[in-house]
Amino acid sequence: MNTKEIELVPVHEGRALLGEGPIWVAASGLIYTVDIEGKKVDVYDPATGETRIISVGFRVGAVVPREQGGLVIAGEDGLYALDPETGSLEAMAKPTNEPNGNRFNDGKCDPKGRFWVGTMSMTENPKQGTLYRLDLDGQLHSIVSGVTISNGLAWNAAGDTFYYIDTPTNEIMAYDYDAETGELSHARLVTRFSSEEGSPDGMTIDAEDKLWVAHWGGWRVSRIDPATGERMTVIPLPAQNVTSCVFAGEDLMDLYITTARTGLSEDQLAEQPHAGGLFRIRPGVRGTSTIAYRG
Ligand code: ZN
Repeated sequence: MNTKEIELVPVHEGRALLGEGPIWVAASGLIYTVDIEGKKVDVYDPATGETRIISVGFRVGAVVPREQGGLVIAGEDGLYALDPETGSLEAMAKPTNEPNGNRFNDGKCDPKGRFWVGTMSMTENPKQGTLYRLDLDGQLHSIVSGVTISNGLAWNAAGDTFYYIDTPTNEIMAYDYDAETGELSHARLVTRFSSEEGSPDGMTIDAEDKLWVAHWGGWRVSRIDPATGERMTVIPLPAQNVTSCVFAGEDLMDLYITTARTGLSEDQLAEQPHAGGLFRIRPGVRGTSTIAYRG
């Protein structure tokens, strides 16, 4: 295992209460992240170093680009089209059987452009969440129920395997994936985090089909071989709660990493002044592109 401490740049500091779900929109060269508890989407422009804030007025768990233009966000109670220029919102889909006190959390598009996004109880009641799939016709389907904190999602390059994290299980799971029907089968364990590693949160996948997983409570991002569970690379971060990551840049070799301030005491915040920041490193591996919703 090799440990990388190269070029770890906090690109916008201390802005996010709960920074999450970074995406790279190649056409505009922008990085979007959500700040779930800050009820906003942050738009970072690597060319200028500036961050623009889009306030949405409710908790936002995930953002994805939309092929026809604009963005899709997962709000507290449903999915919305967001115009990033005007901030205007349009309801797209709402689940019908969500328990009170649930909200949407992490989400991502599959290789066919369907939007997968899960829910969780805001008080973290066990097994109250569901992983949904928004098809290209706008219909929302319940896929995995009994989830506690629905988090990281990734598909391999062949499009036949789906990786998924329900954070409190401390496990990364794999499923067989039928890209034509969008169905999952044959759930199996990839790896389980030790208590020293924290809990797995968001993740992305590189061009060599290796997972890059954010460690909530674990001060790091790890590159993990899903075939063996091996931790191939560890990137230490100066923030305890690391939430997600994405590859970006023209060469897809910049890794952007989100972190959180929420839940840290005054003393912890004093020790982690960069907590909540967005970080960038070049780990020397090419990533995969952020996929847009095609509905
Ligand atoms: Zn997360």
